[in-house]
Amino acid sequence: MAAALRTNANLDQYWPDKRRVTIVGAIWNLILAVGKIAAGIVGQSQALIVDGIHSLSDMVSDAVVLVAARWSAIEADHNHPYGHGRIETVATAIVGVLLLAVAIGFIVDAVLRLLEPERLMRPSWLALWAAAVSVGIKEILFWYTRRVAQHARSNLIMANAWHHRSDALSSVVVIAGVVGAMGGLLWLDAIAAILVAGTVAVMGGRFAFNSLVELVDTAVPPRRQKELAGIIMAVDGVHDFRNLRTRMMGGQVVMDVCVLLDPQLSLAEADRLAAEVRRGLLDGSTEVSDAVVSVAPAWSGMRRRRSA
Ligand SMILES: [Zn+2]
Repeated sequence: MAAALRTNANLDQYWPDKRRVTIVGAIWNLILAVGKIAAGIVGQSQALIVDGIHSLSDMVSDAVVLVAARWSAIEADHNHPYGHGRIETVATAIVGVLLLAVAIGFIVDAVLRLLEPERLMRPSWLALWAAAVSVGIKEILFWYTRRVAQHARSNLIMANAWHHRSDALSSVVVIAGVVGAMGGLLWLDAIAAILVAGTVAVMGGRFAFNSLVELVDTAVPPRRQKELAGIIMAVDGVHDFRNLRTRMMGGQVVMDVCVLLDPQLSLAEADRLAAEVRRGLLDGSTEVSDAVVSVAPAWSGMRRRRSA
């Protein structure tokens, strides 16, 4: 009598929003990448070039997000009866590892320049202006993307929003480095390049780590398990429950639980209660995308509890 599998309609419903916000972000990342790399070369700022290549890698990660979002929006099918949410997770892990690798390359380059000061660049006003424009555009993208992420309840899009904010901050660091270097402290531009690359490394590491946590089926935090328990116990007729198991899939909760009911109930009544618990979980928590509810007579649970 466990309720049948259900794929979350939200994945489909918000797909156009996810796609639009990601395409807008990708286009701006491309514009910023070309603009900053060109301005960095002409305006002689290593930090700005690193920032520009960062934007280029952002564009690549946007492309991965787009492909991933498309896949995870596909309904469960014969090959993937649990849906395609994990494809998004794997893509995020890959992007994380890529960012980590790119960042390490930049840090090594900047350190080598610091060790050979004659290779340090001499930034001009052009580099300064390009970094300032980048800060403005990225801040606007942050607000826009965060609004869409809240609406679509997508962790991946929310990660992208904060990514825009961190991009804005990294351009602020570039401004500091360029201003310092224009003032005569040439090494400040290379230090800024290292800091910018450092933020990319941290970001990449976090993406990779969070995705791996999800891939090894880590349960949701105790606080959220308590919320789910509250929803289950709120259903009239549920005496208790056991075996509450949760895991994340594409940023949403997938769970199963056994509810303990009055042993005298008919099979039909027990099934109705199980369906009610399930509906409560899916409707009561926007994060739950799938719940499997089985039933057992309440006395078995009590006896088990006493003996435990
Ligand atoms: Zn970025």
